[in-house]
Amino acid sequence: MTKMEKKKPEHVATHGFPAKDGELTVGGIKISQLADRVGSTPFYAYDRALISERIAEMRKYLPPQVKLHFAMKANPMPAVVHHMSHIVDGLDLASAGEMAIALDTGMDPALISFAGPGKTSQELSQAIAAGVLINMESFAEMENIARISKEQDIVAKVAIRVNPDFELKSSGMKMGGGPQQFGVDSEEVPAMLKRVAKLDLDFIGFHIFSGSQNLNESSLLETQEKALNLVLSLSKHAPNMPKKVNIGGGFGIPYFPGDKPLSLQILGNGLSKLLQKFQNELPDTEVVLELGRYMVGESGVYVTKVIDKKTSRGEVYLITDGGMHHHLAASGNFGQLIRKNYPVAIANRMDISEKEKVNIVGCLCTPLDRLGDKMNLPQAEIGDYVVLFQSGAYGLSASPTAFLGHPAPYEVLV
Ligand SMILES: *Cc1c(COP(=O)(O)O)cnc(C)c1O
Repeated sequence: MTKMEKKKPEHVATHGFPAKDGELTVGGIKISQLADRVGSTPFYAYDRALISERIAEMRKYLPPQVKLHFAMKANPMPAVVHHMSHIVDGLDLASAGEMAIALDTGMDPALISFAGPGKTSQELSQAIAAGVLINMESFAEMENIARISKEQDIVAKVAIRVNPDFELKSSGMKMGGGPQQFGVDSEEVPAMLKRVAKLDLDFIGFHIFSGSQNLNESSLLETQEKALNLVLSLSKHAPNMPKKVNIGGGFGIPYFPGDKPLSLQILGNGLSKLLQKFQNELPDTEVVLELGRYMVGESGVYVTKVIDKKTSRGEVYLITDGGMHHHLAASGNFGQLIRKNYPVAIANRMDISEKEKVNIVGCLCTPLDRLGDKMNLPQAEIGDYVVLFQSGAYGLSASPTAFLGHPAPYEVLV
């Protein structure tokens, strides 16, 4: 690095969490005070105002007739789901455990939908009794639902989850197109619809989910267009006009240097045009977007404390009380091909300009337990707070908390 570059003032990114007196805050509370309030580190903190702001922003730019559903898988903390239930139009879930949390919020069961492969008879029975919409993922599941429906004397609300013949391009994780364990291949759907018409089921519509963590507006719009066209052609085989179609989501958030946040304006304008054509043919069909990561991912932080600091053959290690057992995704072991650093701050040294190159690790006895490789951060000491941003989605619930027998972290919604 040249002298000139060294002198450039470095921008301290706080990712929407302001610093006060040199310390990062969540919901207006300094991290050290929040740690005292929680009782101990490590913990996740989610900022309810930031979550609400994100939903308001989506409402501002996306077509008003589009319904926004929260995919609970991204963050199933009951307090978060409860908060979401007041600001979104529906909840999407993928297990009976998530369903219990969703029903406790008081949200109308008709606005809750249940997707996922391998739903057991027990789970289907609970969903039918609750009155939630079931996204059917196979012919066998359809027959099972019809049987349980008859036993309970309740007409189950069903939709068909379609595995499309296209994929969501440039996605972090593909969940549609080609062979999949999810949904029914689109070419089999007409036959399934024929069978639905013969069974005593309330056919609500279609569910098409193609992928996750996408930062490319044109790929997202192209997939939405294909999904809407697929719905138009499949609807011709349906026993009744679909009342709802869920065209997925897949909106990504920026994690790494070079990642550009999505433009809601581009997405909104694009979807608006697509809907004009769709609604000419199906004016009474409600269009749903389901999103997890985009709604909550940027509103959460993971807070750990430095337990030890040491130098090994010239490299500095900050050893924290957290780790991959709480935050698998940040360690790079949750579906990533190459490990990249999540954005990190030393929360109590936000106005220190002197930097040190450090490796941040967790407390597990495995080399996989890395939270930051060779990062330039303000010089940190034992007792300081290391905070990982972009941790509001696929954090705690997507981590192997039992690995190595440390206690689970706390979670707070501030
Ligand atoms: C995981 C999942 C989601 C949420 O995906 P995000 O990338 O978090 O928005 C939505 N729908 C289904 C069916 C899913 O499996």
